[in-house]
Amino acid sequence: MLDGAWQIARVSGIPIRVHFSWFLVFGLITWALATQYFPQVAPELPQATNWLRGALAALLLFLSVIIHELSHSFIAKRYKIPITSITLFIFGGVAQMKKEPSSPKAELNMALAGPFSSYILGLIFFIFYRLAGDYQGIKAIANYLFQINIILGTFNLFPGFPMDGGRVLRAVLWERSGNYLYATKKASKTGQVIALFFIFLGFISLFTGYLGSVWFLLIGWFLFTAAQSSYRQATTRDILSDVKVKDVMAHEVITVHSDMNLSELVDNYFLRYGFGGFPVLEGERLLGIISLKEIKGIPKNKRFYTSAKDVMQTFDKSFAVSEDNDVSMILEKMIQEDKGRFLVIKNDRLVGIITRSGIANYLKIKGELKS
Ligand SMILES: [Zn+2]
Repeated sequence: MLDGAWQIARVSGIPIRVHFSWFLVFGLITWALATQYFPQVAPELPQATNWLRGALAALLLFLSVIIHELSHSFIAKRYKIPITSITLFIFGGVAQMKKEPSSPKAELNMALAGPFSSYILGLIFFIFYRLAGDYQGIKAIANYLFQINIILGTFNLFPGFPMDGGRVLRAVLWERSGNYLYATKKASKTGQVIALFFIFLGFISLFTGYLGSVWFLLIGWFLFTAAQSSYRQATTRDILSDVKVKDVMAHEVITVHSDMNLSELVDNYFLRYGFGGFPVLEGERLLGIISLKEIKGIPKNKRFYTSAKDVMQTFDKSFAVSEDNDVSMILEKMIQEDKGRFLVIKNDRLVGIITRSGIANYLKIKGELKS
């Protein structure tokens, strides 16, 4: 989700990245601090240098967010959950995990580590604030970072998934019910409700002309989408648990000949059957897969002179699955590798095809029958 990010550092093997949207926030925070906050809390400070103070405070905030995310990551590592990267973006930071925690306890400790570190940071900045004496500049910066870290810690403890508090809630529900998917669904539903509440707050404060209301609207919308997709993922995994490839695959596979030209393919296969791709055969031998993606790459006037085998993706075992594979695993693979279909192979023979749209249909029907 976060393309357009640059790596700026690496801390104990974890790449720290900055998304371009973060620069926008950095600019806004610096501006707000320099023109509003410092003139208000320390009017005797020279206005020109307030921009420097603003930038310094924004950088320290940025560091605080990294420490928050690193705290999650360190605990994750202790439970053997690999962290792919930490990315800072418009709404703060995210630590990307390779897999979900394996026990409620791991989830709970991992979730609490972030807010805990924010409170510790808040405390440290509070001590700086108290020790700063007459240094108005340091005092104002420390005071800001004290407040913002306490807010960060508290905000993250709201019990809506995917926020830290939502993970705490999921860990508790998971521990109690022993059911990970049930816990995920509940926690992400709560996440949606909390997100709607933020959106509502944002709307209300729009009328008061408070600038922060736009941020509330945006973050509410962002959290709502995130909670919604976690809910959907959990439902999908719930429906697909114990479903095997042979339950979902199409048994009658329409194949195309390797010498067929692309215009013929489009007219007689893609348009006629409405499928997004076909296995390519030469006699009995499976050579590859051709999908709309490959055809789109060839200009219209050249399609008559180009044959399927010239543009197809050559078949190898990365396209093959077995009848007894779990569909949820295959779906994850499709998403990860951006593939629309896999071929089901049994004893070196093509026995079926499983497609993303086939799985989607299966989910839709199952979902409808459930409710
Ligand atoms: Zn966190």
